[in-house]
Amino acid sequence: MQHTAQPTSTPRFDWRALGWQFLFFWYFSGVTHLLIQLNGDAGFSGFRQATTMSILWLAPTLLWPAQTKRITAVLGLLLGSLSLLSFGYYLVYGQEFSQSVIFILFESNLREGSEYLVQYLSLGNAVAFAAYIAGACLIWRYKIRPAYAAQHWRPTLALLVLVSSVGYPFGKEFLATGDLHSARAHLEKRLEPAVPWQLLMGYAQYREQLHNMQNLLAQNQALPPLEGLKDISGNGPQTVVLVIGESTNRQRMSLYGYRRDTSPELQKRSAQLAVFDNVVTPRPYTIEALQQVLTFADQTHPNDYLTTPSVVNLMKQAGYKTYWVTNQQTITARNTMLTTFSQQADEQVYLNNNREQNSRQYDDDVLEPFAKALTDPAPRKFIVVHLLGTHMSYQYRYPQNYERFTDRQGAPAWVDNYELPTYNSYDNAVLFNDHVVAGLIERLDSGSNKGLLVYLSDHGEAVFDAPDDATLGRNEGRPTAPMYTVPFIVWRSAAWQSAHPRDFSSMLQRPYSSMNFIHTLADLSELRFDRFEPSKSLVNAGFVAQPLLIGNPEQPKNLIDFSLIKPKTAPTHVAQSN
Ligand SMILES: [Zn+2]
Repeated sequence: MQHTAQPTSTPRFDWRALGWQFLFFWYFSGVTHLLIQLNGDAGFSGFRQATTMSILWLAPTLLWPAQTKRITAVLGLLLGSLSLLSFGYYLVYGQEFSQSVIFILFESNLREGSEYLVQYLSLGNAVAFAAYIAGACLIWRYKIRPAYAAQHWRPTLALLVLVSSVGYPFGKEFLATGDLHSARAHLEKRLEPAVPWQLLMGYAQYREQLHNMQNLLAQNQALPPLEGLKDISGNGPQTVVLVIGESTNRQRMSLYGYRRDTSPELQKRSAQLAVFDNVVTPRPYTIEALQQVLTFADQTHPNDYLTTPSVVNLMKQAGYKTYWVTNQQTITARNTMLTTFSQQADEQVYLNNNREQNSRQYDDDVLEPFAKALTDPAPRKFIVVHLLGTHMSYQYRYPQNYERFTDRQGAPAWVDNYELPTYNSYDNAVLFNDHVVAGLIERLDSGSNKGLLVYLSDHGEAVFDAPDDATLGRNEGRPTAPMYTVPFIVWRSAAWQSAHPRDFSSMLQRPYSSMNFIHTLADLSELRFDRFEPSKSLVNAGFVAQPLLIGNPEQPKNLIDFSLIKPKTAPTHVAQSN
């Protein structure tokens, strides 16, 4: 200490030693998150949380500095071996480990998962593994040393470390809400990106969600069948496909008149498409919308999704083998209901295991499992394809070769320079979505398939669509048209059209809420049953236009007709007058 002028007799605290200890603990969560960041595969919050939560492990070495080497060895072995799972998962799949992965591991796709794993155990990955382990060993061997604080400070410092890592998020949330449960949930969310919590809590949450889902499924399975169900076209072999989009506002599709060429592939097929241009969603949120779209629930009976059959139940009862191919997250607290719908089907393919929705994931992943489902020898097939569509963050929804809108050309003048990249990335996402939906049609169109495909989005999305509207995304409290205007298109193969000739041309402008969709799907599939209401089918001669109710049905007084919000914010650059 001769180079310091400090008049102190005790040795200075060794900050450098503490720094190396932190780096050692951070290594096991941070390296994988750093790779995710460097490759731009997800948002920043996982990296930040993994970093803050690594501070926690400094508590024991601060408290018992003499044991530093031993403590770091034990923790290093524990955290390190657990971290191999998430590190390896990232190497193989390019994604962050999550509770959805645990769900997949325990549920249907275990066999396929292990097949993939074998396929990807390459030499390059083995080298990466070895380097990863060697990195941790080298830090421990050469850089880990005690940081001695004065004896009487040690408990305080250890406590400070605990407070700053786990105490702060917990306490802050508890003070804000006064609720222990939500404080715990908040803390768990913060801990989740870090090893070993992603495994421990992932498993606990998986158990909890699974339990909820099984209850919902049991409730669904106990429902009585639809009475008087019959296929008026005679139960022939055919394939019905329902493609559920995500966050796609039809006003941003050139198929609906948008000035940028965002749906070239569907437009190429436009002669074969029935393009309905006045369909709106009742709710601007995925789960709330789909609870109505996929069941008999609607804005006046919002809870009927628990007590009435779903589209899957309907089609199953009509003799269809049912499939659910999804690129949405599976077992998150929010998506339990979606996964319950998927579990009603005979077969499922889960493609998205990301922890955060805000992660890179492309929808063309659905094409192969979709094509595979088409080859199933079952004579009657109902295939649901649930896309991630154009959900935020838009730049994670399309590969680089679909980054076609990069400048001001075709963008409205009111979009400022800060908004432009987001505005453009949304259009690029719509463009890639066009490629995926057209790709599904193309696969259904091969051979002499008697096939019908319906594509609609769960809801729309506001992305700087009007000069007076800076909303990005969706807000039911401040509704604007782009949040509700969804694409709704029907494609039928030649064989389908000759078997079930129908002319939709006079129906394309009908005002329709997707809350009544189950009646339209039944009608398109030529199904009838006692509670079928022709007035609620978009394609029925007996259709009756009704108010397009939007808003939260838990507050029925606040429900308004969609037309009330149209004049204020309808974008002026879109030719369509819907
Ligand atoms: Zn959605």
